[in-house]
Amino acid sequence: LQSKLPDVGTTIFAVMSKMAHEHAAINLSQGFPDFQVSPELISLINEYMKKGMNQYAPMPGLPALREQIANMVKGRYGYNADPETEITITSGATEALYNTITALVHPGDEVIIFDPAYDSYDPAIRLSGGRPVHLTLRQPDFSIDWQEVKENINDKTRMIIINTPHNPSGAVLTDMDMQQLEKIAVEHPKLLVLSDEVYEHIIFDGFQHLSVLRYPELYDRCIAVFSFGKTFHATGWKVGYIVASDNITTEIRKVHQFVTFSVNTPVQCALADYLKDEKNYLYLPDFFQRKRDLFIGKLKGSRFEPVPCHGTYFQLLSYKNISDKSDMEMAAMLTQEHGIASIPISAFYGNKQDDQILRFCFAKDEKTIEKAAEILCKI
Ligand code: PMP
Ligand code: GLN
Repeated sequence: LQSKLPDVGTTIFAVMSKMAHEHAAINLSQGFPDFQVSPELISLINEYMKKGMNQYAPMPGLPALREQIANMVKGRYGYNADPETEITITSGATEALYNTITALVHPGDEVIIFDPAYDSYDPAIRLSGGRPVHLTLRQPDFSIDWQEVKENINDKTRMIIINTPHNPSGAVLTDMDMQQLEKIAVEHPKLLVLSDEVYEHIIFDGFQHLSVLRYPELYDRCIAVFSFGKTFHATGWKVGYIVASDNITTEIRKVHQFVTFSVNTPVQCALADYLKDEKNYLYLPDFFQRKRDLFIGKLKGSRFEPVPCHGTYFQLLSYKNISDKSDMEMAAMLTQEHGIASIPISAFYGNKQDDQILRFCFAKDEKTIEKAAEILCKI
């Protein structure tokens, strides 16, 4: 059998969650909350199931949900999305990213991604016959070197993928970054910007989420991707969405209709109601910042060194002062011998660069965070 992805193994999230399970470790690896979804949201889903909303949803998504998303996007980012032609509900952000790349990247096209990059971008680009161009974010703040971006753009460059707040680093793009991006886009009219914004609400320290949908010069060339899994603590539901101009959306839907066709109906019905009250998501920055602060606070005195995190529910910790092990070995050792699982961030580098940094998910109950920090303080 000739593999299309010969160098790809099982995603690090599956590997580390399995290892955590086998060793009964506290699982701070794969990013998911260990606390409950809102009971109100669950009852809504229940009610819609009982009412019989259990068959296929419309292919682009439930109209009522798309309308609510349009209101939210208008209010938060100023973009006037037509729910009929510019919003598509997908099976999580993963499907959104895959559909977008599949619909828009042609064989031979180059796509710029920034390492450490979420692990689904590179394989999706290659499955479309595209060439991922991996640029490395500058440390210690994991910022984009826009000069390097400019130098890497040529006639074949089709797309730039950005991710803010950034998984795994917790870095957040600033208005200066977005202006640089806008300038580049204007100079290269064929360039598309795929913006992974699944952590739009999980942002701290007074930073504002700068969606591509705030930048008029990007309107007709950007694709913004979001996830309700992150926003409503329900990663297992796999519901996300794409906002993009109508001609781009038309192409993306051509793929979506043959990947999943549509997304589960009762959850969409419930989300359409639940989104009406912005209180249901406006509390998220404070809620998660408290968790980050608790984790960092409890790590005082440990030999792990935190990398500043301004968004997402991930905290990077450097273990340079503790061990020379590779990050893969260190993550395995911590899981198997100390009962705490994390993600080695070399998995997010095209060249498997090893920064001796691990990623820990703090979307957890206080007790879990305290227990995890206690273990880490002893290492
Ligand atoms: N992009 C990023 C940066 C992510 O961290 C994740 C997963 N947490 C996704 C996309 C995929 O989101 P979903 O679970 O909605 O498929
Ligand atoms: N996005 C989640 C993370 O970064 C995991 C998603 C997945 O398991 N594919 O941990």
